[in-house]
Amino acid sequence: MIDMVYRLGPDCDVDDIVEGQVYLGKVHGFAAFGTFVHLNDRIKGLLHKSNVKTEKKERDQILVQINQIRSNGNIDLREIQLPETSYETQLITKKIMLSRLSDLKNKIGRNVIIEADVVQIKQTSGPTIFTVCDDSGVEDAAAFTEAGVRSFPEVSFGDIVRIFGEATRRNNQMQVEVADMYVLKGAEANTIRARINRALEARAEPPDVSPLVKSAVLDALWPEMRKLAKIVRRAVLTQQPIILRHHADADGICAAVSVEMAVLQFIRDNGGDPDQDNFLFRRSPSKAPFYEIEDVTRDLDLMLKDHVRFGQKLPLIFLMDNGSTEEDMPSYKMTEVYQLDVVVADHHHPDEKIGRYLLAHVNPYHVGGDFGVTAGMLGTEIARLIHPEVEQKILHSPSIAGVADRSEAPELESYLALINGKYTRDECKDMALALDYEQYWLRFNDGREIVKDILNMNNAPERHNLLVSLLVTEANAAIEDQMNTMMPHVKDQVLSSGANLFLADVEMFAHRFTFPPPGKSSGEVHDILCKRYENQPVVTLGLGPDFAVIRSRGVKMNIPQMVRSMRDEMPGAGISGGGHLVVGSIKFVEGMRSEVIAKMIEKISEFPVEGV
Ligand code: MN
Repeated sequence: MIDMVYRLGPDCDVDDIVEGQVYLGKVHGFAAFGTFVHLNDRIKGLLHKSNVKTEKKERDQILVQINQIRSNGNIDLREIQLPETSYETQLITKKIMLSRLSDLKNKIGRNVIIEADVVQIKQTSGPTIFTVCDDSGVEDAAAFTEAGVRSFPEVSFGDIVRIFGEATRRNNQMQVEVADMYVLKGAEANTIRARINRALEARAEPPDVSPLVKSAVLDALWPEMRKLAKIVRRAVLTQQPIILRHHADADGICAAVSVEMAVLQFIRDNGGDPDQDNFLFRRSPSKAPFYEIEDVTRDLDLMLKDHVRFGQKLPLIFLMDNGSTEEDMPSYKMTEVYQLDVVVADHHHPDEKIGRYLLAHVNPYHVGGDFGVTAGMLGTEIARLIHPEVEQKILHSPSIAGVADRSEAPELESYLALINGKYTRDECKDMALALDYEQYWLRFNDGREIVKDILNMNNAPERHNLLVSLLVTEANAAIEDQMNTMMPHVKDQVLSSGANLFLADVEMFAHRFTFPPPGKSSGEVHDILCKRYENQPVVTLGLGPDFAVIRSRGVKMNIPQMVRSMRDEMPGAGISGGGHLVVGSIKFVEGMRSEVIAKMIEKISEFPVEGV
């Protein structure tokens, strides 16, 4: 009884076949005396016409038994007929010499065998491109049947495959030209998958660096930062796209640009090309300091289309200088539906409810720190954990972020000391202002190269100087004009707590839809008043038609808590908002404006002033 049919792998030769056994072959031509049958690309036999049982045409599959292997190497076959359910097929492979993807560059023009995980399948107008990942790296394998036709349709995303092919170089990237490819199953696949996973775990482990500055907060956050960096490194190593969302202010930009520099360099150093595969990494500024429904919807729309079109993994979402608060909840419910990986590095006061949606959450409040350790500081340290080679390029980023967010944490002084002789505090302030000004006009665009020029990360110091000085001049002129317009209309009162309260109307007595926007305008008004009322507690409200921006100094505010209690006490006012403890914003419906403002003043009066 025959119940086993063998199929020869492309690497097998005549030593691998056995007389009497049945093989799966392919008809490869006809002659007067019989039919030629290929058992693989190198082994062919003859089926004498007396041994033919069925009518076949070229390229048909055929079952043949080895009659005899002659001393001259000729192989005599006879056709076998078996009902399809009566036999099993087994692949015969040589004791194979596996190649590793990282070693392809040393094997150009040679045949290689690769065992790897299929992480992406892209059909081009020419070949099908299988992006594969083994224990050493990620590369493309190109297979061609016919232009635009999917090769190896039985291979799908996530399969473990064995590829036979030739190592080539294409557009400066290594590639395998596929001759044949099999999906591996069962224990064999599991063993390979485990091997790839173990290697990835090790390669994703961040390098052994410690914080740039002495800081108890950073030391305490370090394990979580390492965990986050590892998730990002693993995403790069497995070809998972990364969407980096960040608050569109100077602190958020500094945080995100540092990480962007590190991730792009890490992709390049691992054989990827972020400029060609621009879907591998995307940086997107968010207007609000939280992940808005509008943002998550846009991200989901793009990523799901890419998922279908390019057979691409769903991305890792990385939120910086946003993502920690209750206001992020609606978006997290969306990411949960699609089971997206989300990580956060933020210094806004965290809400504990959001923890379950995140794979990693770096926030100074978790370890007794506060917003003074800004997102830009966290971002620069995380960037070093992702790829320390970028350190020198981003060394000034935490200082710009720190002065931009008015950090009073001791860390800022230490970061400034690191760049002593390169940048002064005022130069950092200028870069921060230039970033805010330029981002206003960039709106939702990341402005990658302009932003790098502002931050002097493009190796063009002269252009950097010209650009920053131009933007600072323009921004200051716009701010001065706005302040000249607003200040005469500012109303003041002294609260029962002893704090000075100022109301600035950013709707009726300010230029709208230009720089500085309401939040910035309110901050500038607040700064002028803080100088005027030196050493006194000051609260400034920038009032719009349906929102208010809150700035304070010297008052023990808790804005998120205030917003929550107002929402409970004022049904029908449509209240939402939050922010930091002492700096934030609130939204409401226009028809309840005066009631909301009155209630807000009442609440602010209840916060004690500092040092009393
Ligand atoms: Mn910030």
